[in-house]
Amino acid sequence: MPSPLVTAVAPGSPADRAGLRPGDELRALNGEVPRDVIRYQILVDDPELEIEVSRGGLDLTLDVDKAAGEPLGAEIESAIFDAVRTCDNHCEFCFIHQLPPGLRTSLYQRDDDYRLSFLYGNFTTLTRFTELDLERVITERLSPLYVSIHATDPDVRTDLLRNRRGATSLRWLRALLDEGVQVHGQVVVCPGINDGAVLEDTMVGIADRFPELATVAVVPLGISRYGREGRLRPHSLAEAEDTIDTIERWQDRFLATVGRRLVYAADEYYLLAGRPFPDPEVYEGFPLHEDGIGMARSFEREFAGEVETPIGPRAGFFHWVDGAPAEGYRAPRGQVTIRPRRSAPVAILSGTYGASVLAPLVEGRDDVRVVPVENRFFGGNIGVTGLLVGEDLQRVLAEEPEGHRYLLPDVCLSGGRFLDGTTPEDLPRPVEVVATDGLSLRAALEPVAA
Ligand code: SF4
Repeated sequence: MPSPLVTAVAPGSPADRAGLRPGDELRALNGEVPRDVIRYQILVDDPELEIEVSRGGLDLTLDVDKAAGEPLGAEIESAIFDAVRTCDNHCEFCFIHQLPPGLRTSLYQRDDDYRLSFLYGNFTTLTRFTELDLERVITERLSPLYVSIHATDPDVRTDLLRNRRGATSLRWLRALLDEGVQVHGQVVVCPGINDGAVLEDTMVGIADRFPELATVAVVPLGISRYGREGRLRPHSLAEAEDTIDTIERWQDRFLATVGRRLVYAADEYYLLAGRPFPDPEVYEGFPLHEDGIGMARSFEREFAGEVETPIGPRAGFFHWVDGAPAEGYRAPRGQVTIRPRRSAPVAILSGTYGASVLAPLVEGRDDVRVVPVENRFFGGNIGVTGLLVGEDLQRVLAEEPEGHRYLLPDVCLSGGRFLDGTTPEDLPRPVEVVATDGLSLRAALEPVAA
């Protein structure tokens, strides 16, 4: 198993005092070789800590002097030290199967690893989950976890995952809930396959078998022009409306029976159906913000200054594959740098869905406009800002005037790069990268208003 590599040591920290240095390979902590950052964190919490490291071929033992609970003060390179557990499903709607060729290798990784679920909110189907995993989740209290449900009918789920174990792996969901683990579920809806009567049946299944689920996000499938699955197609208007109606009906039922709405339709459905988003209180604290549910309403609230801190982080698509640290290890998100005149007219770059949300917010501002960027790179029905790439932004920005300020939401960047590997520096106009929340956008626009 590769040893975790130390990438940074905070000056004056216990790690620094013990002599740990960037570049050191961590061989063992108190004699144990950690498998992942979760175990690492537990081990380094021990006030009596002995670290075995390898430095330039030399083996060293460092004794760390620190108080109980005091952070070690070292950063490590990755989250999973042994192999990431890869996915053994073959879902026809899998977006990784719909990626164009030639992107960086890490983007093609299909994981189904409960540890990434805990660390990054990745969804797991539990088809590779084991008794040992359950034991670890319970003993180390790895909660919340995120589980792909898609359908509760065993045959439909097997068909969707193209994996026989899809029929039975939701037994692990029951076991997790029995142990008090908080679980968020997800249903990716494929029109003609698991919508309509099947979605209704899935809601019945959730009510009957998994009512303890914290939330269930119901999201439409994404189809890129590279998809090769004949059965898949985008939702029609009527199907989007029908899905919203089903979910809202079940929200009322869940509210009456378990005291919360439990299931939520993605913002994308309301945009597709041309319906207003539900009132902010319907989202019950916006727990699914990261899944694109309630994002429009929370953005509105932030932009209106009704909250003091962003309601939730919105990590970029595939954010974990580039080694972005997990929550609790993440660096603060910030704004970048390249700024033309503050008083210049402002253009907010956005995916087509985001543009529909942003346009009403800046209505009446002559100095601010929203520039929707069509996603031709992925094509299909891809309209979310998180999947914007440099190639499309280059095309659009080349037609835009010089000397304006161009605001780019950071959600389309991972490690400073777009999914197509280009960077903001490759764009034909300078852009300001702004954190993807209403407060940051408001701050970016404020001096102009003044
Ligand atoms: S479980 Fe996820 S990663 Fe695996 S095939 Fe299905 S959609 Fe793709």
